[in-house]
This record gives sequence, structure tokens and C-alpha cells, in this order.
Amino acid sequence: MRPSVVALASTAIDMRYLLPSFAAAGSGLDLRLGPDWGALDEIDAVLCWHPPHGLAARLPRLRLVHSIAAGVDHITADPTLPADVPVCRVIDPDMASGMVSYVAWAVAHRHRHFDRYLERQRQSVWEESPIVPSRLHRVGIAGMGVLGRAVGAALATLGYDVAGWSRSAKTDLPAGVLGYHGAEELMAFLGRSDTLVCLLPLTEETRGFLAADLFRALPKGAHLVNVGRGAHLVDADLIAALDENHLSAATLDAFTEEPLPGDHPFWHHPRIVVTPHIATRTAPSVVVAQLLDNLARLEAGAPLVGAIDRLRGY
Ligand code: NDP
Repeated sequence: MRPSVVALASTAIDMRYLLPSFAAAGSGLDLRLGPDWGALDEIDAVLCWHPPHGLAARLPRLRLVHSIAAGVDHITADPTLPADVPVCRVIDPDMASGMVSYVAWAVAHRHRHFDRYLERQRQSVWEESPIVPSRLHRVGIAGMGVLGRAVGAALATLGYDVAGWSRSAKTDLPAGVLGYHGAEELMAFLGRSDTLVCLLPLTEETRGFLAADLFRALPKGAHLVNVGRGAHLVDADLIAALDENHLSAATLDAFTEEPLPGDHPFWHHPRIVVTPHIATRTAPSVVVAQLLDNLARLEAGAPLVGAIDRLRGY
């Protein structure tokens, strides 16, 4: 049998970081690194992060487009992506645990005033701030998917008063997580979010979700944690909400333009913490293992792991 031919495609990163894991897995795949893809009619699958637009449409044998991460917005943004090709995201317990530790840190950093203690240490000031019990700090998680659920379960275990918001109603949320869903329950959800965590996928419906109207619906002094996508956030609206003291702080891990440009106001805003899209990562070996598994599933006609709903966009 001929080996599957896989294009490793990205306009943003060097996909060669996956090669040692392919070698270790003894995959036997015919791997193609652009920009010279060889014969386009030989390519069976594309493994990618921000693939070049138009590539998938030029591959007549294409049977799978696979993300190296949880998000697929960088794939579905290609207007020429063939409608019938399955698109998969990575499912990885380590990715969830990375996100849990990032969000738990971000919530506690502000709720327990560690930001103030870091500043006081710089000034050799020994001074306490009052502790608000975790059960009185309400965390709202927008997006109750693979990552939102894991974060919700962990924060509830830490004693926070946690709610999650999703598109559809849920009957199986983690213990201690209150469920809200749909546009009709959004205002109630926001009104009880002292910290709002964005873990939505980026779709046409969620682009610009974190904007002035939404900020006004949050309690005064709320903290925003955006670990979704940069394009969820309207940057100028966040600066305005902070400068009006309606929001107290923001912790941002994803940005419309990455790397965040050196002159962007987020870098130096005193109440914004910027991290370089590191909330979580998937090990290359996990990406390679899932791709190989999905290629075998394609051969066997079995359901794919991590297949997204092309109509919903996630
Ligand atoms: P999932 O696809 O598993 O879950 C998405 C959740 O969002 C679902 O609960 C879904 O609702 C909800 N949702 C989608 N659209 C809407 C809408 N219009 N209104 C209300 N709820 C909506 O995603 P993951 O949890 O795996 O990942 C979430 C995102 O996290 C990724 O798409 C990516 O952008 C980001 N991410 C960031 C990383 C980082 O390092 N910063 C790393 C990995 C991911 P329902 O359940 O009803 O379908």
C-alpha cells in the first residue's frame, strides 16, 4: 500500500518541529514541507497551523485537514476550504491541564491580590490586603467545551463560585458549576461574573464578543481573562473599560496580531497582564499520534477523533 502523503503547512510557524516525533513514531508517511509541495494530486492530508489559504482547494485527493491545536479558526478562515473535507482539532488531556493551571493562576493572581504583593515587594512594603473567600468570588466561563469544563471543574474544586455559558443547555456540567446558555441567559451570566474567562472558539458568531456592551454587563471591578482568541476582543473597548475603572484588570494570552506589536498599548497598561499565547500547548508526539490514529480511522471508515462540525465552525 502506498504511504499516506501529508503536507505540514503553516504561514506562522516552522512545522519542522514535528519531524522528530514523526521519526520516533516510525510513521512511514510521505511528509511534504512547503512551499514546494511536490505533486499536489498525491497529498492525502494537511496537518497545519494557519495554513496558506487556497492550498486545500488545490489538493484533489485531500481527505483530512488536521489542526496541531484545539482551535480550527485558522483553518476555517480559508474561504476556499472544500466543504466536504473533515477538519479535526487536537484532543489532549495535557492541553486541558495546562489551561487549568493558567486560568487558576490568573483568577487567583487578582482575586488574592498577588499583583499588589509583587508591587509591594518591589517597594519593600509589608502590608496585607483583605481576603475575600473564594466562595464569594464568582467566576464565569464563556465556553463549556473540552477546556471550559476542565477549568470549571478545577475552579469549583478550589472553592470558587463557578458558572459556565455555552450555546446549548447542559445536563452534564462538572459538579459545582452552574449552567447558563444562549443569548437569552447571557446577561444573567455576565452579571454574576467577577472574573470572566473567555474559552469560546472563534467563529463568525463569537468574533468581537468581548466588547463595550458586554463589559458594561459585568459587575464593576470585574477581571477579564481572555484565553480564547485575540479576535474575540475589541482592544480599544477593553482599554476604555479599564480606564473608566469599570473593569479592574485583564489577563490576555491571545491577540489579534501575534506576536503582539511592540507599540501596542496592552504592553504597558498597568492593569493588563500579557502572556505570549502560552496558556497551554500540546506536545508534538500527541499531535503526531492523533494524526496517525485519524489516518488509520479514515482507512477503516471509522469516526475521526476531534472532528469539528463544519457548519458550527467548532
Ligand atoms: P470546544 O469546541 O470544545 O468548546 C467550545 C465551547 O464554546 C462549547 O461549550 C460551545 O457551546 C461554546 N460556544 C461556541 N459558540 C458559542 C456561541 N455562539 N455562544 C455560546 N457558546 C458558544 O473548544 P475548547 O474548549 O477545546 O477550546 C476553546 C478555545 O480555546 C479554542 O477554540 C481556542 O480558541 C482556545 N485555545 C486557546 C489556547 C491558548 O493557549 N490560549 C490553547 C487551546 C485552545 P456548546 O457546548 O453548546 O456547543
